[in-house]
Amino acid sequence: MEGDGLSVVSGNGIEVTSGQMKYFLDPRKVSAAGICCVSHAHSDHMPSSFDGGPLFCSDITLRCLRGRVKSKKSKNYLENVERGDLPSVNASGAGHILGSNMFMIDEGKKVLYTGDFCPQDRLGMEGARPQKCDALIIEATYGNPRYRFPNRNAMMGVIRDWVEDTLNQGCSAVLYSYPLGKSQELTTMLKEFQPRLHGSVLDTTRMMEADDLKFDYLPFDPADDTPQLVISHNTKGENGLSALGKKRTATVSGWCLSGRSWGMDEGFAYSDHADFYEIIDFVKRCSPDQVYMHHGSEEILAKEIRERLGITAVPLKKGQSNLGSYF
Ligand SMILES: [Zn+2]
Repeated sequence: MEGDGLSVVSGNGIEVTSGQMKYFLDPRKVSAAGICCVSHAHSDHMPSSFDGGPLFCSDITLRCLRGRVKSKKSKNYLENVERGDLPSVNASGAGHILGSNMFMIDEGKKVLYTGDFCPQDRLGMEGARPQKCDALIIEATYGNPRYRFPNRNAMMGVIRDWVEDTLNQGCSAVLYSYPLGKSQELTTMLKEFQPRLHGSVLDTTRMMEADDLKFDYLPFDPADDTPQLVISHNTKGENGLSALGKKRTATVSGWCLSGRSWGMDEGFAYSDHADFYEIIDFVKRCSPDQVYMHHGSEEILAKEIRERLGITAVPLKKGQSNLGSYF
């Protein structure tokens, strides 16, 4: 497909160029030099500077960006931002965290960018749906055959049982998870225990809320030492957490698959990313001619896609601009 005038390279985020059109996917710098699409507001995907131009992202992502940027210039930009609207860009749910998007760019040839994605429906959120495309740019976070996650609904049941047992034993249950995404998922799925949100988990949850999005929780209260479920990102027990009486702790992360629990009593392998087998299935259903991968085990995933599916697969490396990156 070389010579079609489309290129995919790593630069300001991932850059897709077609003739005069340039798209920046999860750019570090948002500017009018290209069409800027932000998939979600995790730090490895969100821009660090905002210099102008319209922005393609969901309402939830925009609220998160507004809450997370520090500089006055960035805050000003985001308060007055013009939302992107072009027939050549089509956003759809990525199923990773609330508000996360994939982007389909249609310049005659179709290019699908997944950002971080998860194909399984959860939390009233549809999983990412495969779409036919000519080129697929896909995350490789768990792009290694050693990563196969347990069924997420079953794993949430295991977490729920653990919380219930812990509270029944007169202990508090403390779950540690990433503040944006996983924590709101736990808050929703475990609302029967009236979770207390602590520190950055509380701040982030409040940041995401709007008239059409509310969560059921209480703010963590260090003066309350009754057995309770706490969701926190702070593993050091600071800001009142250490005042809790008897407690049991658990980490909730896909990386717990490798047996790690970061010094906690338990580690639950629950992820909002696709595992290796879900990635392979997703690629197959999109049936692209070429796959590019980013974020994670790029080399391993590229090799597996070539061998298992017979599709050309190329890791995206920073600054890569050789002919192999054209299609
Ligand atoms: Zn993410």
